[in-house]
Amino acid sequence: MKNRLILFTILALSASILLCSCSGGEIAEGGSDIERSAFCGELESIAPTSKIEGNTLYLEKVENLPEDFIMGVDLSSVIAEEESGVVFRDYSGEEQDIFKTLAENGVTHIRVRVWVCPYDENGNGYGGGNNDAEKAAEIGSRAAKYGLRLIVDFHYSDFWADPAKQMAPKGWKDLDLDGKADEVYKFTKETLEKIEAAGGVVGMVQVGNETNGALCGETSWDGVCRLMSSGSRAVREVCPEALVAVHFANPERSGAYADYARQLSEREVDYDVFGSSYYPFWHGTLENLTSVLSNVATTYGKKVMVLETSYAYTPDDTDFNGNTISDATSGITKNYPYTVQGQANALRDVIEAAAKATGGIGVCYWEGAWITVGGASREENKEKWEKFGSGWASSYSAAYDPDDAGKYYGGSAVDNQALFDSNGVPLQSLQVFNLVRYGNDAEVKPESAEDISLIIEDGGEIALPETVDVLMTNGKKQPAEVVWSEEDIEKASSGGAGNYVIGGKAGELEVKCRLTVLEKNYLLNYSFEGDEQVWVSENLSKTEQLYVEDKKDDSLTGTKHFHFWSAAKDSVEFTLEQTAENLPEGKYNYSISIMGGDAGEYECYAYVKQDGEIVSKAPMEITVYGSWDKGTIEGITVPEGGSVTVGVYVKCSGSGGGAWGKIDDAYLNKAE
Ligand code: CA
Repeated sequence: MKNRLILFTILALSASILLCSCSGGEIAEGGSDIERSAFCGELESIAPTSKIEGNTLYLEKVENLPEDFIMGVDLSSVIAEEESGVVFRDYSGEEQDIFKTLAENGVTHIRVRVWVCPYDENGNGYGGGNNDAEKAAEIGSRAAKYGLRLIVDFHYSDFWADPAKQMAPKGWKDLDLDGKADEVYKFTKETLEKIEAAGGVVGMVQVGNETNGALCGETSWDGVCRLMSSGSRAVREVCPEALVAVHFANPERSGAYADYARQLSEREVDYDVFGSSYYPFWHGTLENLTSVLSNVATTYGKKVMVLETSYAYTPDDTDFNGNTISDATSGITKNYPYTVQGQANALRDVIEAAAKATGGIGVCYWEGAWITVGGASREENKEKWEKFGSGWASSYSAAYDPDDAGKYYGGSAVDNQALFDSNGVPLQSLQVFNLVRYGNDAEVKPESAEDISLIIEDGGEIALPETVDVLMTNGKKQPAEVVWSEEDIEKASSGGAGNYVIGGKAGELEVKCRLTVLEKNYLLNYSFEGDEQVWVSENLSKTEQLYVEDKKDDSLTGTKHFHFWSAAKDSVEFTLEQTAENLPEGKYNYSISIMGGDAGEYECYAYVKQDGEIVSKAPMEITVYGSWDKGTIEGITVPEGGSVTVGVYVKCSGSGGGAWGKIDDAYLNKAE
């Protein structure tokens, strides 16, 4: 995953092993207490359930899903979680081995990240599960007990590697490329041998994590590909049955995957699977994902897969560490509601998109069990994060990554994206891995209603819609009648200018209208949205276009604004004004906004006229597209029943030709 999302059990290992395992990047002979014989040949076979009693989620079957489609869950933090006291349960709430629970619910693979040495010189873990080779071996053996294969995710770093950083392990940082290539080969080989010795069954190995052009401190494709090739060679030798995967992020970036695949092809990197992260809130559309993966598969004859995905089942945080997505997150695409059904639909749709891709072999859910370690305060949580590495980073990580992890260390940023609730009980969405094969024709019900917003002027009518679009459990929208709170309406009507929330009910669903009440505006059609012919424009030169335009993207608010443009030089000059009459006595403020470009030499100002003469001006700037400038004139004195004319003057020479611009949102408010 991209950011600092992101546990521990050093206790199981002796301190001497720990320190030894870190020196010079060597792996120690730790973890030998996990005997291969304990699990080998005794894999418990768990048959997936076809019809799930009691599951109330609506889920559409994914057509043409191959029988051997990989259903993975990244469980890297599980041991640190358990060490911190987290108990994972079955659907009845009874404690049950989480690996068994996952196998029962259609999961086929467990993904685990591997860092070279996520510890400081005193043996304190950096956090994020403190996932080293020993941890991977332990997870591998526990997974194998239930027939689950491992996806081993080598970061070739001592801590998080993602598009933002790809730091070399501390023990390798002074090595040249040849030296790093040797270490990558050795570390990969020894780690895989350790996993196999512990009874783990390796299904796939990633040589790097989200390596968008960098890996292990190398930032050239020659360097990246050389290291990938070294890792790949070790996988082929130790686990000839396993698939070799490369892993990238940001499928939404036009041309990026085609470029990455070409770079690898040109340098003959030996791999089987081109893997991608796909977080629905960051990574573009599903159609694009299918398309860019299919393109790589067809061009280079590769298998493709989604190696990381996740979605929130609740907007709420449970561990006092803010989450990657919540109701407060801006700048993301909220494709699904933050509910268990929304999470189920999100996962189902990613499975479908990956299965549709040419060469699509699977999907892996990222950190499906990174839930709160418990505690009533951040401090209580923090103690465990620090001690067991169960947060995304501990304070000890400062020794390695002082500017990010060492500064912002804390808990889980994805506890609301887990497939288990905060008590460790699996959510119904965990059953999606099975349900996608059959579908679940539960009754289609209303799932969520989008909030609406409304801006009115003080004293104006609060025109709330009678119906709102409700999102159904099958992802389709349908109008539903709303009963709005009379009490909330009354409050907003009598409260004057300000922000209000008016609650409502659409059936069982809560609906909210965010209402902004503006001060009374004495101008009519202030935002050019209406039909009234109250604005007068005088063309003082040969301005070619002067009219109200309906184009939301170019409007400050609403969908319309006043537009001007000319192709010819020195042709733009005009005024736009409105007279407000019969005003109550008092002092008034006036403002109007403009944006535009290619103005050349220009003169532009807001003005106030009284008795036909301009009495006040406020200069305004015409700069670039999207940069609105507001001209404001304050303290306009008007006698009882008086009138005032307000307007804007624009004259442009045009740079290279004519100039253009947009005028919107004029206000004449009473100042006192
Ligand atoms: Ca959290």
